[in-house]
Amino acid sequence: MDVFEGWKITSPYGYRVDPFNGSRVFHTGIDLVKYHRYPIPAFVGGVVLFAGDGGPGTGFGGYGNVVALRDDKGYVHCYCHLDSVSVARGQTIKKGDIVGFQGTTGRSTGSHLHYEVRSKDEPSYGYGLHVDPGEYLESLENEEDDEMLKEKVADLETQMTALKNECETLLNTAEAHIKEINTLKAQLADQNMPEWFTKEFGEEAEEALKGVVDTPQGPNLFWRLVAVAYRLRRKG
Ligand SMILES: [Zn+2]
Repeated sequence: MDVFEGWKITSPYGYRVDPFNGSRVFHTGIDLVKYHRYPIPAFVGGVVLFAGDGGPGTGFGGYGNVVALRDDKGYVHCYCHLDSVSVARGQTIKKGDIVGFQGTTGRSTGSHLHYEVRSKDEPSYGYGLHVDPGEYLESLENEEDDEMLKEKVADLETQMTALKNECETLLNTAEAHIKEINTLKAQLADQNMPEWFTKEFGEEAEEALKGVVDTPQGPNLFWRLVAVAYRLRRKG
C-alpha cells in the first residue's frame, strides 16, 4: 500500500541532515514533490483550522503559506510551503479537495510540499506533536479496509439468513408434498381389490365381478357392497 503514490519523496519523516546548517535534526514531516504550483489534494478530509502565512509563533513558523486541517480523529494535517492556499479557515474539506498549490514559501530550498501530521490541535496547532504521516495514512486506510470487511461480513450474514429461511420453506414444502403423496398412496391402496375380498371369494373373485364392474377399482365401501351383492346372488 503506497499512500504517497505518484509523489516523489525528497525527504522522509525522521532524522536527517538539515539542508541549511548541516546538523542532524528531526524532520517532522515528509517532503513530497510533483511540480511547482501543482494543485494539492487533501490526503484526508477535515475542517480548515488555519490557511495563510504561518508567521513566527503561529505553530507554523518557517512553513510559509500553510493549510492545516483537523480530521475527525482530532489529528492536524499541515500542508506547508504552499505557493498559495485555496481554502479558508472554517471550511470543511473532503479527501481529494484542492487545499493549495505546491510552492517554496518560508524556509524552503525549492518547490515542494512539506506534509506534516500532528496528533493534537493545541497548543499552537499541535506544534511538536508530529507523527509519521505515512504510517498515519496507512492506519486510516487499514481502518477503512476493516470497515469494508465488516460490511461484507454483515452482507454475507444477511444472505445466509435468507438462504436458511429459503431452505426451511423448501423443506416444509417438501414435507407437505410427501404427506400428500402418502395420503394419495393410502387412497390408491384403498381402491385396489382388498385382500379380504380376494380371500373370501378366492379365484372366482375376478370372475364374479365380470359384468358387475368394468374395473376392480373403487373405494373400500364399494367393495363391501359388491361383496354383499355377490353373497346374495350365490345364495339365490
Ligand atoms: Zn519538510
